[in-house]
Amino acid sequence: MKDIPNLFGSMVFNDAVMKARLPKEVYKALKKTMSQGTHLELDVANVVASAMKDWAVEKGATHFTHWFQPMTGTTAEKHDSFIEPDDGGQVIMAFSGKALVKGEPDASSFPSGGLRATFEARGYTVWDITSYAFIKDGTLYIPTAFCSYSGEALDMKTPLLRSMEAVDKQAIRILRLFGNTDAKRVMSSVGPEQEYFLIDKEMYLKRPDLIYTGRTLFGARPPKGQELEDHYFGCLKPRISAYMKELDEELWKLGAYAKTKHNEVSPAQHELAPIFSSANIATDHNQLTMELMKSIATKHDLACLLHEKPFAGVNGSGKHNNWSIATDTGINLLEPGDTPNENAQFLLFLVAVIKAVDEYQDLLRVSVASAGNDHRLGANEAPPAIVSIFLGEELTAIMEAIDAGTVYKDKGKEQMEIGVTVLPHFSKDTTDRNRTSPFAFTGNKFEFRMVGSSFSIAGPNIMLNTIVAESLRQFADILEKTKDFKGEVASIVKKTFHDHKRIVFNGNNYAEEWTVEAQKRGLSNLRTTIDALPEFISKKGIELFKKHGVYSEVEIHSRYEILLEAYCKTLHIEALTMIDMVKGIVIPASVDYQNDLAKLLQKKKACGGDYDVSLEENLLGKIAKLSSGLLKKLTTLENAVLESKGGESALAHATFYRDKIFAGMADLRTVVDEIETLVAKKYWSVPTYAEMLFSVN
Ligand code: ADP
Ligand code: MG
Repeated sequence: MKDIPNLFGSMVFNDAVMKARLPKEVYKALKKTMSQGTHLELDVANVVASAMKDWAVEKGATHFTHWFQPMTGTTAEKHDSFIEPDDGGQVIMAFSGKALVKGEPDASSFPSGGLRATFEARGYTVWDITSYAFIKDGTLYIPTAFCSYSGEALDMKTPLLRSMEAVDKQAIRILRLFGNTDAKRVMSSVGPEQEYFLIDKEMYLKRPDLIYTGRTLFGARPPKGQELEDHYFGCLKPRISAYMKELDEELWKLGAYAKTKHNEVSPAQHELAPIFSSANIATDHNQLTMELMKSIATKHDLACLLHEKPFAGVNGSGKHNNWSIATDTGINLLEPGDTPNENAQFLLFLVAVIKAVDEYQDLLRVSVASAGNDHRLGANEAPPAIVSIFLGEELTAIMEAIDAGTVYKDKGKEQMEIGVTVLPHFSKDTTDRNRTSPFAFTGNKFEFRMVGSSFSIAGPNIMLNTIVAESLRQFADILEKTKDFKGEVASIVKKTFHDHKRIVFNGNNYAEEWTVEAQKRGLSNLRTTIDALPEFISKKGIELFKKHGVYSEVEIHSRYEILLEAYCKTLHIEALTMIDMVKGIVIPASVDYQNDLAKLLQKKKACGGDYDVSLEENLLGKIAKLSSGLLKKLTTLENAVLESKGGESALAHATFYRDKIFAGMADLRTVVDEIETLVAKKYWSVPTYAEMLFSVN
């Protein structure tokens, strides 16, 4: 048995290591910078760097890297060794405070949406002191934020930290009004549940579409999919179990709280959930989780697929972003309290979220928009593209009673009046029944379920933090001026719920009637990435982000461009891959099969006599007919790809990709899948859906 408490965090330069290895004064100064964001003096940084290096070298590290999160959605790293020449022609291991605090990677090849061109080609990485450094594969990793020479954010981390500050600032204003004087900070906490697929590596390597695009671009439906519901929470196969065990241990070493693991709904689909932590650390750890999922899979002769929809016809993968806000003194502000005062405070924070989600539903949709997630949202398995909130029956009844000015009776005993009586606690059992909701209240947190499995969770949490900060700001502005605090809180809760209750929906989000009903309620239904993204640069969005110092206008525009560009590039690669596979795999297979059938047919006929040739004739006829359809659709797609060069706006370009390339691929796929069902297996050189989905035994 391994000593897990000792293993946990063993590769992290965490608080315990700092305390043990840093002089007292330096440790104190560092902690102050961490908790209050004060400036870190260079002499302090020098001592910290040297202690970090000694610790890392003892653990076998030879290099360090500034680890950052550019807008590719993944992470970036460039490794520098600790070696410095000494006078005698030898080397010593050295690491300066300057190298710890700031790096200057050549940033010109990262997406910047035109930002860097207007400024400088240089980018800076700056140590994110609130996220611990760690060792992975012999390198000391220093989590950093990445920005341009003039301070524009070029990454996901910087705006995330800014949004955390925004919600902190506004929530503290509210707490002070409620008489809370001891909380110094309010942090957003996140627990991201990560879904993923594992298939045998040998299968993976035979599918160029999986290698280049992360998803299968074609594949006939297997005889068995997820209909028996026998995979969800099913017993873990030994190979999967060994993989998960190693993944857990590696994550624990890095200080990530890997907690829950299980099989998911689709065959070959699994999930890992950590214990929640503050939003920036959860983001770092989720990036590490995705990286390790992939690299450890390779060691086990498996391939990990993080795409939102690797296989059609079975569930895709998402990330449930569990979100709450809590004080540094440990009070979860979305947890109903034990006193009337806490109860009023809870209701105020609750309606702040309801208002935020209703007013900025479009921005939440933007935060989960990508070519990959378009396959998932609204596809009858994941939440639809319509944003709504599940509150659960009990809480909805309470809110309705407040709205109607009536008294809520809980099991005939408890009465509800804001600020007067105690709210019932909402157990998970009563709140978590609806799995179809895109945004569900689950007792003491909200679960945002629209996030795609391959996403950085920074984006969705930037949105959540900022929109909730805005509601809280408006409330605080009113409450700071009022003479009747209690009365004003009650009236805000009532009015806010009344004005925004259209966003609350406890029913089945997959039902078609909901789409109609949502439209009646005036909720938006931004079906695709291209429908959603323009909301990002709307006046309302820009004002919001500017007001809270989360994004400048220039930063928003650059991100908008990057997202559109990524959409087009993704589809472009998919189209080229598909064309290549159809020409190099599908057509030859069908031609060879037809050839053999034709030869047999000829032979039979040459023999004279009365051989029955109906099978050959029938099959040949069917495949020949499909083949000519295939050629037509292939040509249409090829022409669309050639046409796509135009110098129009980014949005027009992306719209073309959705309407012509995406549609063209879907169209081509239907014929390919039909051909696959007719052509004998020995001609089909790529693994089938059945083989891939059931490849691990
Ligand atoms: P499930 O949704 O699968 O039933 P849980 O409700 O137990 O599972 O938790 C899901 C995730 O929510 C976990 O990552 C957990 O740590 C996280 N979580 C629990 N409480 C909070 C909270 N207050 N804030 C943010 N995340 C939380
Ligand atoms: Mg969940």
